[in-house]
Amino acid sequence: MEPNCIFLDNNSSTEIDPRVLNKYIEALKLSTGNSSSKHYYGYRSQALLEIAKEEIAKIFGTTPECVVFTSGATESNNLAILGLKDKTHYLSSKIEHSSVIEPLEYLTGNHEVTYLGLDSEGYTIKNQEIINKAKFVSIHHANNEIGVVEEFNDFIKPQQSILHTDSTQSIGKIHISFNSHPIDIISLSGHKIHGPKGIGALIFRTKEIKNQLGPILFGGHHSEDLRPGTIAVALGVALSEAIKIATEELPETSKKLSKMSETFYDLLKKEILDIQLVGPKDFSKRLPGLLSISFPGINSSELISKLSSKIAFSAGSACRASKSRVAKEVLNDDNLVNGFCRFGISKFNTEEEIERAAKVIIFTAKSLSINSR
Ligand code: PMP
Repeated sequence: MEPNCIFLDNNSSTEIDPRVLNKYIEALKLSTGNSSSKHYYGYRSQALLEIAKEEIAKIFGTTPECVVFTSGATESNNLAILGLKDKTHYLSSKIEHSSVIEPLEYLTGNHEVTYLGLDSEGYTIKNQEIINKAKFVSIHHANNEIGVVEEFNDFIKPQQSILHTDSTQSIGKIHISFNSHPIDIISLSGHKIHGPKGIGALIFRTKEIKNQLGPILFGGHHSEDLRPGTIAVALGVALSEAIKIATEELPETSKKLSKMSETFYDLLKKEILDIQLVGPKDFSKRLPGLLSISFPGINSSELISKLSSKIAFSAGSACRASKSRVAKEVLNDDNLVNGFCRFGISKFNTEEEIERAAKVIIFTAKSLSINSR
């Protein structure tokens, strides 16, 4: 990490954990063989994959055959939505990640797609009558821009329906598993949890649910025909290590991140009175480490650009270049949307960095707001 630029963009990507990197390098050396090959080297790669899948399956409460490696959460979400064989009635919300929204938009017209309403903090309004009609529900566990967390216990999942959740942001911060939540499919990604980029997974509660999906890519028969392409064995091993560490360290990580994001907010709020917290107002209910705030009267792109060599943060999802679509959905105020910023704190950030970042932001935001008057 560059010592002088404080990295506060951990919801877009994270620094690799040295323990994950070691596992990755070790597995890379041992995985010359294609895991589908029927010889010593192939079997060795296959064995590494099996151990990785067993570890992940144990953590989420399923079986290894229900763990499918992908290139990341974008692919996992696309596969969950577009791979569904019986495309009947989809239900989601407008503040899902674009890798959920855009496949749904692609289906709209030929299939029924409905979106739940949102309250002012970004929680989906669980209208049971609407939910009852859905066959496939996709609701994120935690939002990547405003830190709202869904619990899935405020509605009744209709029988025969599938509940998919994008857990990309919540792994290692808020517990999720098939044993504790009424969910059927989980999407996640390595690089959000101090693992490498280019690896993710789609994880199923049961084999029966997995069988309701077909491939969206063609040309191979890997992952039991669901996801063709040579499996990135070492990346799979690294992902399993990243999930294992994130899960073991979850209690201390989430406590530390919640405290740091609240301290950060308090420091900013003390000096810039009109900043507004976007998303849940209660820090104990927010995604730990994600601080989403708006600086009224300031253009966030200008603030980000002025500070680009001192503090790394963003105006929303890194997957979209324009102003935050999520902020637009929940704020209904152009001035607040224009000033929307997202700061993402990780376990590798220190309190000293938070204090230093707050000072620099306060100074720059004040100078920008004076100049804009
Ligand atoms: N879902 C969410 C909630 C995300 O935050 C992201 C990354 N911005 C993705 C999906 C896509 O993940 P990946 O980069 O692994 O494709």
